[in-house]
This record gives sequence, C-alpha cells and structure tokens, in this order.
Amino acid sequence: MHPFQKVSPPEEGSPIRIENGQIVTPACPIIPFITGDGIGTDIWTATQMVLDEAVNQTYGGLRRISWFQIHAGLSALKTYGQDNVLPDDTIEAIKKYKVAIKGPLTTPVGSYPYVCLACAKEQGESIQNRPSKCEKCGSPFVTKRFRSLNVTLRQVLDLYACVRPVRWYKGVPTPVKSPERLNVIIFRENTEDVYAGIEFSYDSQEATDLIEFLEKRMHKPVRSGSGIGIKPISAFGSQRLIKKAIIYAIQHNLPSVTMVHKGNIMKFTEGAFRDWGYEMAHKEFSDKVIFESVCQARGNPDGKIILKDRIADQMFQQVLLRPDEYHVIATPNLNGDYLSDACAAQVGGLGLAPGANMGDDLALFEATHGTAPKYTGQDKANPSSLILSGVMMLEHLGWQEAADMIVKALEKTIGQKRVTYDLERQMSGATCLKTSEFAAAICENIT
Ligand code: NAP
Repeated sequence: MHPFQKVSPPEEGSPIRIENGQIVTPACPIIPFITGDGIGTDIWTATQMVLDEAVNQTYGGLRRISWFQIHAGLSALKTYGQDNVLPDDTIEAIKKYKVAIKGPLTTPVGSYPYVCLACAKEQGESIQNRPSKCEKCGSPFVTKRFRSLNVTLRQVLDLYACVRPVRWYKGVPTPVKSPERLNVIIFRENTEDVYAGIEFSYDSQEATDLIEFLEKRMHKPVRSGSGIGIKPISAFGSQRLIKKAIIYAIQHNLPSVTMVHKGNIMKFTEGAFRDWGYEMAHKEFSDKVIFESVCQARGNPDGKIILKDRIADQMFQQVLLRPDEYHVIATPNLNGDYLSDACAAQVGGLGLAPGANMGDDLALFEATHGTAPKYTGQDKANPSSLILSGVMMLEHLGWQEAADMIVKALEKTIGQKRVTYDLERQMSGATCLKTSEFAAAICENIT
C-alpha cells in the first residue's frame, strides 16, 4: 500500500536513496513530475520525450526513468478540489522519492478574495494585511492569497540552495560579443534574507509598533509611515549554502568559489554572510581551499580552489568584463535573484536557463521562467529551460553520459537553426519549430 490519497506511483521502479550523503540511483528510479501550468504541459511533454530518448539511446534499456505524475497549482485544484494548490501527496512524494522535476506554476488568486483577519486566521489561511476594513464586519481587512507555490515548496522541503548553471550554447543569439566566456554555477540561498516574508505595510499596527520599538529601544529613528521589511541572515543558513558551493567546486574540479555580498553596507547580514563563509571554509576545507588574499601574497602552489568575495554591484561588472575569472558563485537570496537573471540574459535569456532547488537530501529541478500564459496550449514555447533542468537532474542521478548527449543534440539542433519562435525571431535564416517539433529535432540529433 502506498501512502498517497489521489495519486498512485508506477508499479515499475524503485525510490532513489541517500546513503551517507550520497545519492544511490537504481536502474529504474521512480521520479515524480509536475507538468506545471500555462505552457507547462507543452514543455513537459517535450522534455519527457527528450530525456527518455537520451536515456534509452545511452543505456540501451538497461536504465530508464519510471515517471510518476504528481500535482501542484491549477492541476492540483482540479484533482484535489478547491483551494488545495499544494496537496500533501505532492510533498510526501518528493520526500519519498528524493528527486523531482517541475514545470512553471501559477499561484492562483483565492476564490473568495476578501476576508477579515480573524476569519482568515480561523481558516488557517496565509494572509496579507491590507489598508481597509472587512466588507462584512468592519474588522481590519485582508486579501486572501495563496502564497507563492515555489516559495512554499522550497520552505516546506527545506530546499535551501537555488542552483542555476549559466553558460552559452553555441548558436544562441546574445547581446554580448563573447558569450562563451561566461560559464558559472550560481548557488543562491533560498530560505532567508528579505525573501523570508517578514514584511509590514506602511499603515499596519505592526509597522507602527516596530518603528516605535526601533526608536525608543534601539535609538534608531525610522520615518513614520514607512513600510518595514526584515532581512534575517544566519550563520547556519549562510554556511550550509557556501559549503554546498565549495563541495560542488571540489567535485567538479573548478578553480574558484566567489561569495557575492553587499557587506560594505549591510555589515551584520551580508557582511556576516562573507565572514561566516571564510570561517567555515577555514575550519572545514583548509586542505582544499585557499583564500584569495593568501593566494595573492604567497601563490597557490598546490592548485587549491580559490575562495574570494566580491561586492554585489561590482560583481555585475565583473561578469560582463571579466567573466572567465568566475566559476562557482555563492550568494544570499536577493543578490542571487538579480545576478542569475542578469547572467542568463548575457548568454541568451531565461528560455535556456535551467535551475534546481536543492536541500541536503532532496532536489527539485525546474524551468526558471514562468507559465507564459498567452502561449498556453499553442505548442509554441521553447522547452529548453526545462530540458536543461532535466540535464541537471540526470547529472545529479550520476547519468552523465545521457546528460552530455542531450546537450550535444540541443547544440546541434540550434546550430542547424531549427528553433522555437523566441530564438527564430533573433536569428537570420532560421526555421521556426513548434515545441513538439523542436523536441523531435533534438531526439533526431541524439545519436
Ligand atoms: P513568464 O511566464 O516567464 O513569461 C514572460 C515572457 O517570457 C513570455 O511572455 C515570453 O516572452 C517569455 N517566455 C517565458 N517562457 C518562455 C518559453 N519557455 N519560451 C519562450 N518564451 C518564453 O513571466 P510572467 O508573465 O511574469 O509570469 C507568468 C506566470 O508565471 C505568473 O503567474 C507567475 O507567478 C508565474 N511564474 C512562475 C515561475 C515558476 O513556477 N518557477 C517563475 C516565474 C513566474 P514573449 O512574450 O516575448 O514571447
């Protein structure tokens, strides 16, 4: 008997296991997938076709993925009923099977948008303060909203690292002269910083109380009528993220890890992120890592990984002007959000940018763009972001040969100028393919 209420895992296959922190992938792993909303169905169908073809061609039937459909977003509403956009089945399936992949999700708007604070609390709903009154009883007014599903998934599953590799694929049009010089993997902290969701509206009692507290108790005056957001950054959260980045550099034989922060201004949050990183690296990786300052003074005769830090604003220049000096980047949440999109733009945009949210044991791979609702059901969108997230997933499983095969085939297809609309409009002499045709072209090139 399986523990799920409305979904059934496939009969074939078995779960991936984690033993001593290492992934153990069976020959036929069960992998849960969420198609996603909007263009999700189109790009998922294309992705599954490419992944299956590559695995089949590489391992000749000795390995294969047993797919298990689970639900979130609009498809969850259909299967599980009103308001259940993230069912327990979905969370439990990801926990049980360790690795999952998803398309983009819409965060639906609540079906009864306005309820008062007391009613919302009673219903256990996530709420956001609004400057008005309840239509029914005149109590302070709130808008009922579903919390972002992506943020909820990351927090519930403690997927603390958002991992985004950014590199150029031959033939992709870009705004820079030498896009091939950028090849970085960004580890963005996923659970803290201003994204922790501790925010109070300018006219809320909470903001008024906090302003009073800051002024009276901390002697830090804040202009009255200010909205307030809190930026928590901890040693625990920073060090586990930076550690993950360093381990990645060690495993992939990469020359440097750069901590990107704004510590010159925010000393006790972003500055502490950097200091905790150096402290942890000194304690745990001194045989493998050398600090840039030491390296400049004494050289690096043992060829250790160089750990450096850069201030965030300067880093935006660095990735444009000296991109080849950076390999692995570790950064707090907000910097990482900006930096990963800026880097993706440099090599041709979000359409080809893959991503994963990873914890200690669990990994959820996902397209980095949204649901592009205007293209829903048109078989038009570019599936590359999700396909490349699938490539990251195969690498995570240890199926590197299949992953390499897809990258080669994707590059070949783009090189043949057989692309989806978004790339076709930027390339001269290209053929515009539908999502499904593009996937078929990649499969044709998998040899
Ligand atoms: P979006 O869905 O990423 O789409 C913005 C534009 O980007 C599209 O109109 C399209 O540009 C282009 N685009 C995105 N994906 C593409 C693809 N696969 N192929 C080709 N072009 C693509 O951003 P949005 O319109 O701001 O957000 C729509 C919904 O997605 C919202 O509900 C949002 O909450 C959600 N969202 C989800 C995630 C996630 O689940 N990870 C992330 C971001 C947003 P053109 O119009 O120029 O063709």
